[in-house]
Amino acid sequence: MVDRLVRDGVLRTPRVIEAMRAMPRHLFVPRPLRESAYYDTPLTIGSGQTISAPHMVGMMLEYLELREGHSVLEIGGGSGYHAALVARVVGPQGRVFALERIASLAMKAQGRLQRLGLEQRVEVLVRDGSQGYPEKAPFDRIFVTSGAPEIPPPLIRDLREGGKLLVPVGARSFQDLILGKKVEGELETESLGGVVFVPLVGKHGFE
Ligand code: SAH
Repeated sequence: MVDRLVRDGVLRTPRVIEAMRAMPRHLFVPRPLRESAYYDTPLTIGSGQTISAPHMVGMMLEYLELREGHSVLEIGGGSGYHAALVARVVGPQGRVFALERIASLAMKAQGRLQRLGLEQRVEVLVRDGSQGYPEKAPFDRIFVTSGAPEIPPPLIRDLREGGKLLVPVGARSFQDLILGKKVEGELETESLGGVVFVPLVGKHGFE
């Protein structure tokens, strides 16, 4: 699967490629779906939610331009797969905070991260990520893995000057992937094209 993503030009950065190769995606999906874990497709993870397709996860990892030691916030922790990959790329000095509104998913994600020895680097918290995480702000990178109706203003607040924000913005059923950079307190944005994520639910999300 990873060879193919490299061949297709999705994965380019050595640290990202290494992380994708090392991460056992089958441990992040429900047992009956394990055989499908290395197909490039989203899979259901329960509670009506999905783990994104590997090419989407890889694309987002590349767009984020992660560096060792970065502090990163994820909104929509889900299975914990994306957060685990980010943790590997930012290394032992880096930190990942994954906010997930569904407690049962967050608990399972935390268990997997523990088993993989990543619990020192990733913290999974049950809360509405659309309201950001001011207690641990500012973050070098923030990424949202659910579709938002607008860029949640608290996420711009919680982003470090010069930091990057990646967020799908649009309708409930399809969105534009927006890459933002915080410059002098304002977000400069560009659109990276159409994507499909489950909806962001919460104060700055859908009802
Ligand atoms: N990145 C995940 C998949 C995310 S699926 C992975 O690697 O597996 C999107 C997740 O966003 C779902 O689990 C959903 O419950 C969560 N979500 C939706 N709205 C949210 C909010 N306001 N705060 C936190 N999590 C939210």
